[in-house]
Amino acid sequence: MPEQAAIEVEDLKVHFPNRGGGATRAVDGVSLRVSRGAFHGIIGESGCGKTTLARTIVGLQKQTAGKVRISGRDRSEWQKADRLNFARTVQFVFQDPLGAMSRRQTVRQTLEEPLLIHRMPNRRDRIAELLQIVSLPETVLDRPPRSLSGGQRQRVSIARALALDPTILICDEPLSALDVSIRAQIVNLFMKLRQELDLTIVMVAHDLAVVREMCTSVTVLYLGQIVEEGSAQGVFDTPSHPYSQALLSAVPSADPRIESTRRRKLLEGDPPSPSAIPQGCRFHTRCPVAFDACRSDIPDIREVGHGGRARCFLADKTKRPQI
Ligand code: SF4
Repeated sequence: MPEQAAIEVEDLKVHFPNRGGGATRAVDGVSLRVSRGAFHGIIGESGCGKTTLARTIVGLQKQTAGKVRISGRDRSEWQKADRLNFARTVQFVFQDPLGAMSRRQTVRQTLEEPLLIHRMPNRRDRIAELLQIVSLPETVLDRPPRSLSGGQRQRVSIARALALDPTILICDEPLSALDVSIRAQIVNLFMKLRQELDLTIVMVAHDLAVVREMCTSVTVLYLGQIVEEGSAQGVFDTPSHPYSQALLSAVPSADPRIESTRRRKLLEGDPPSPSAIPQGCRFHTRCPVAFDACRSDIPDIREVGHGGRARCFLADKTKRPQI
């Protein structure tokens, strides 16, 4: 029997109605499976639906259609029936740590709040433990989070997400507000947390080099759909979809053979609006190897050489398009 996934998403759609009719299809038929213990990256250009997908997985955004299962349970039903236990299983780390905390609270109150709501015993010990886990000194406890550095704030936000000892963390660009030097420290913290606390982490990120370094598996989104998915190594080293090839060509490889043949492939133009999705393959308006059928027919997602899947007529287990 296959191991139960930490997260399963089935044909998920999030459509926002437009004023003049029609809809913005932010997430448009996404199905994905995140294994237990994975560090899963979700990547793609701005506006591709990454954040909406992450927020919908935890129920911060309502879906239009489709299913999300967390640890084998339907997320909507679980949240309705047992919100407290759901919160003990999955937590969200926001891009802007300050935006997710009360300005009036100290760090101690920020960390204590979820413990109080969930009537957890030994709160003082747990707060001390959380500080240790995220490597913050006790001296921050009586300060408001806004008086801390960007890296310290993000550590507080991660500590708060860990307060109830969840098994799954969903993180929306948790590194994007940080300086490059601090980013490396938070990257190391996430890697340590995954190993030591046996967490499953899903991370929306635009820093592709970081995703390559941290993640075990990856999903590439384009205009609300998955265009490629697989192991991070497979997708980064041998991307099969022309969009992934262009997007990932900027990221250096640690493998000298791959690095010696790497050449930067520039993507021309901007993605079309998710309110006016092109017919056929959604990428055809920017694809350098598009052909007639791409403008009218919709490619299925299919198995490709690196063991994952890609949505392109030209990609399969034996060949990949060369752009
Ligand atoms: Fe390009 Fe056609 Fe493949 Fe779409 S299906 S990525 S347009 S070659």
